Amino acid sequence: MPRPDFPRTIMEFQKRFSDEGECLKYLIDSRWPDGFVCPRCTHDAFYWKEGRSLLQCKACGYQASVTAGTAMHRSKQPLTLWFWAAYLVTTHTPGMSALQFKRQVGLSSYQTAFTMLHKLRAALVKKDRDKLHGTVEVDETYIGGKEAGPGGRGAYGKVIVAGAVEVRGEVAGRLRLRVIPDVTAHTLEGFVKENVEGGVTVKTDAWMGYVGLEKAGYHHYMLMGSKSESLPHIHRAFSNLKTWLIGTHHGVSEQHLPAYLNEYVFRFNRRRTPMAAFQTALGLISERKGPTYKGLYGVAKGGLAWAHPNPRDGSLGS
Ligand SMILES: [Zn+2]
Repeated sequence: MPRPDFPRTIMEFQKRFSDEGECLKYLIDSRWPDGFVCPRCTHDAFYWKEGRSLLQCKACGYQASVTAGTAMHRSKQPLTLWFWAAYLVTTHTPGMSALQFKRQVGLSSYQTAFTMLHKLRAALVKKDRDKLHGTVEVDETYIGGKEAGPGGRGAYGKVIVAGAVEVRGEVAGRLRLRVIPDVTAHTLEGFVKENVEGGVTVKTDAWMGYVGLEKAGYHHYMLMGSKSESLPHIHRAFSNLKTWLIGTHHGVSEQHLPAYLNEYVFRFNRRRTPMAAFQTALGLISERKGPTYKGLYGVAKGGLAWAHPNPRDGSLGS
């Protein structure tokens, strides 16, 4: 049996997941597409327990939690709210801030909204392991820093993000983004090797950090002209990323930037498969656990300069 289908519109979504029972049914269909089978004795009849959050095998008494391994496990929030959050995180363009989410679903606690969104984002970290192939554009960009400050390579107070994107004719293929410590050849080649299949064509600008790529086993195409014209796909991805970070999140702290990069890449790479994205966010495919609140706030670093530290949005504790 295939996975259950995914609502095409927000109206359909609202109708389909209107109560806890419908959400539960969807969870069960997703986790056990061929119907529940006891993992201990393979019997297929069960009782509902604990307000239907547990299934108990009628033959041997084994109990299986419907939400184990998902983002929703042990949460006090209703499934309907989790489903809305996952829907908004994966399909709402250009993404959802915790404050917007809190307002839209009428949550009273900002912390609850923030933690829920971060748990969903943590599930998105599960990487698409295939390296990029075909023709790939690679470049770096600087996130943050004072507007009037020095720009370009070596700029102080900014976070460097390396990016690689597949070129599929006029459109962009898959994207990878990562925070990097510097723009040395060692770091940039490391980023390329980790994310791009050996032997493919890699397009970069003339920065010296890239000169070793040919030796490293790539067909290196170094561009001398204006960057935005010669590397259009990666530049569009960087530009949209910055617009999203500033416009939706009003800047994010350095600590949380990797999580936002993951979310951005995730949505970018699955912009044509919303159903798979929704299920991944909820943890219905990966069995990955989300971080705890303590894990999220154990260490707080300073916000980025342009992030006009806004305690309401994405930089709690900084
Ligand atoms: Zn059993």
